[in-house]
Amino acid sequence: MKAKVEMEHTAADQTSHLWNAMHKYDPDAKALVAVSGAGSWFTDGDGKQYLDGVSGLWCLNLGYGRQEIVDAAAEQMKKLSYFPLTMNHQPAIQLANKISSLLGAEYQTFFSNSGSEANETAFKIARQYHIQTGNPGKYKFISRYRAYHGSTMGALSATAQANRRFKYDPGAPGFLHVAPPYSYRSLYSGSAEEKDLRAADQLEEMIKWEGEETVAAVIMEPFISGGGVIIPSMKYIQRVSEICRKHSVLLIMDEVVSGFGRTGKMFGFKHAAGIQPDIVTMAKGLTSGYLPLGATSVKDEIYQVFKEDGEDNHLRHVSTYGGHPAACAVALKNIEIIEKENIVDRVNDLSNSKLIELHDLKNHENVGEIRQVGFLLGLEMVKDKVSKEPLDESILNQIVSECKQRGLIIGRNGQTVPGGNNILIIAPPLTSTEEDLDFIVDTVSSVIHSI
Ligand code: PMP
Repeated sequence: MKAKVEMEHTAADQTSHLWNAMHKYDPDAKALVAVSGAGSWFTDGDGKQYLDGVSGLWCLNLGYGRQEIVDAAAEQMKKLSYFPLTMNHQPAIQLANKISSLLGAEYQTFFSNSGSEANETAFKIARQYHIQTGNPGKYKFISRYRAYHGSTMGALSATAQANRRFKYDPGAPGFLHVAPPYSYRSLYSGSAEEKDLRAADQLEEMIKWEGEETVAAVIMEPFISGGGVIIPSMKYIQRVSEICRKHSVLLIMDEVVSGFGRTGKMFGFKHAAGIQPDIVTMAKGLTSGYLPLGATSVKDEIYQVFKEDGEDNHLRHVSTYGGHPAACAVALKNIEIIEKENIVDRVNDLSNSKLIELHDLKNHENVGEIRQVGFLLGLEMVKDKVSKEPLDESILNQIVSECKQRGLIIGRNGQTVPGGNNILIIAPPLTSTEEDLDFIVDTVSSVIHSI
């Protein structure tokens, strides 16, 4: 009997009752059943090993199977298996304090279970903040086309990728979208930085046209990740921050992907000098995916508004499992390891000495642009460099599937035009060895040259 159960769980089986996420982009994904993982690699039911070149869903910052993290979860579960954050528990207090010190200013943190919930929480805080500071008309949120901010209705409404919203619209009211700082396909001319600054101007124009008295917040990732690894000039981020301040609009920085070392800084926004977002949202790398946890950190001056004038001003928002003691203990251990093992420096060193070798593909006729920050790399695949038309779906599928055949999982995303998910994405665990990175570079290069 036991053997039969194991068979059922490890065999590649088209008849399983499990509903997979997103498998349209990888038609044979349903056949893969993982059974174990260590470092950057996982093993399937047939014993085949794969290097996870996208860190699961960009979350496995420390890779699979770290015993210290497993132990931290188990010890916490034995001590206090659950407790709601309507009151307090030690791991949540310690983690909130740690996050505040990492962000570099006084921040107060509300915990949830995912990136989507972290962003939903941010939207509610932003609207309530404006009501309680005498600006009840400020309810709109602005995000950029190509952005992904989550799957729940509010976070999906901030998400501005038509293929993610197709058949789920209309979204929640009050979410507006503006052009991203996408210099490769900008309507403007000039240097990349000049084009990006025009995108910032467009954002300011939108605030003015809508009326600044109606705009609550701008939500942005420092680097658009899921929308195709779009890396703006740091002046763009600084300009957006200035625009927000000028119009009393809160800046929500979505660090769900870029947080905890992925880009070669502890947080992506730290690449832009002088930036201190009003609200920072986190998930994924916060626990390296070992347990679910989302965090919404708000600057202390915003938090104070929720404490003043009695009962009615408190945040009427609650999450049963948000900030679960085991998840917080895992996050604390995860951050301790990131610091102890100098993971951020490691990402800087190896992204410049190893992953950078993928830039040798830039002369390939189908590689339009290569964009990289730390361990986050996108290859924009085109039919040719002049028309910049996205490479055919079938060829993109073939590249992803050939990499998989050779034991490497890579991602594909972007939505350059409707249906054109033509960005190949590489975002390996931050603990990947030099050999792992060589394997990624060799496999991706040789597959692209062979197809
Ligand atoms: N924000 C960003 C930038 C993301 O990439 C994601 C997930 N890919 C989310 C939010 C949503 O996170 P979750 O899937 O944990 O809800």
